[in-house]
Amino acid sequence: MKVFKFGGASVRHATAIRQVGNLLKRYSGEPTLVVISAMGKTTNALERVAEALHRKQSPSGEIEALVAYHQEVIAGLLPENHPIANEVKNLFVDLPHWAEKSLGFDALYDQVVSTGELVSTKIVSAFLEQQNLPVKWVDARQYIVSDNTYREGKVDWDATRKLCQSLPGLMNTGIVVTQGFIAKSKEGLTTTLGREGSDYTAAIFAACLGAESVTIWKDVPGVMNADPKRLPDAITFDELPFREAAEMTYYGASVIHPKTIKPLANHGIPLLVKNFDNPDLPGTKIYETKVDQLPPLIVFKDNQCLISCRVTDYTFIHEEQLSLIFTALSELDIRINLMQNSAISFSIVVDFREDKVLNLIQRLSSIFQVYYNTGLTLITVKNYDTRTFDAYRKKPGVLLEQSSRSTLQVLIKP
Ligand code: ASP
Ligand code: MG
Repeated sequence: MKVFKFGGASVRHATAIRQVGNLLKRYSGEPTLVVISAMGKTTNALERVAEALHRKQSPSGEIEALVAYHQEVIAGLLPENHPIANEVKNLFVDLPHWAEKSLGFDALYDQVVSTGELVSTKIVSAFLEQQNLPVKWVDARQYIVSDNTYREGKVDWDATRKLCQSLPGLMNTGIVVTQGFIAKSKEGLTTTLGREGSDYTAAIFAACLGAESVTIWKDVPGVMNADPKRLPDAITFDELPFREAAEMTYYGASVIHPKTIKPLANHGIPLLVKNFDNPDLPGTKIYETKVDQLPPLIVFKDNQCLISCRVTDYTFIHEEQLSLIFTALSELDIRINLMQNSAISFSIVVDFREDKVLNLIQRLSSIFQVYYNTGLTLITVKNYDTRTFDAYRKKPGVLLEQSSRSTLQVLIKP
């Protein structure tokens, strides 16, 4: 059995959804579970709805726009008056009722934002049925169980594995279509697994089902050694070891969600990244393999913040002070992307999530003189060669650099 995942771009309009149908026809005949994201930028719009509801403001403008967008897609796929049109409309129009439930923001967010995936899978299923494909729509929340950490649900693997046992039977009767990104919490509410989490959902199902592979359908030819929008001469990898792919996601390559690799690697399930518009292209196969001489991999991570903590007297930075910095980072759940120390200062580079980072800076200011700089880009060159090593170190605006035998990182002010 196989697991396929289609992201928001692959279902963003009627034409894209027709292509999903074509791909599923092409690969029919094998038990398949299909994981689908919310359409286009729906999740961002739903985030705004959740924020408005939390602030007790009316989200009616956003909701109208979401209804109109989805109705247009439905009109491009299904006959007029198809019952799905009403069902979808009601799901959006009913969203404000979550504001009455006195939920904390994160829990409210998940109840609202998960609607994107529920709606997209309903529309795609209805269309596939129309195309005479045997489809079973299932609610992912009846299979994937998480703890109560809203917006970042941690999967309960034992419970999830047990619930997934009934899926193979269902997959023998039709293509199972389900939502990415969402799960059910221990207290019975919806949780989400972190932004862009649908890849992770595909990996969870594959691991629990012992699938033969997961295929992520993308708008790129496969995993590339750089973002082709930034570096037009980027090349596509034919194959990549799991470890290499996992490290890429750590440095910020956005092609696969960072949590996706681990469950697949643990179960030896290959991950294929293939081109949605051109399925004849070979794409990239990520699996347990050794590749010698990978070309340099270049990852740009924008929106970085450099924070430097200086001691205020003539002492040097010492371990006790470092431990205060790390405690603050851990308590605020901020990940370090790069760090460096000198005699009198300790510098860290983190994603600039404003509220969290300003909070951190405020905490550190009681101990150190703190300087910070935002709007920076962290460039990581993994498996560098002499040419890329020199080129990236000499980039204009380098504020900080660090290298090991395999990896160079430079922080620049663009
Ligand atoms: N729809 C969710 C998001 O945009 C999950 C996903 O696309 O993977 O973050
Ligand atoms: Mg997405």
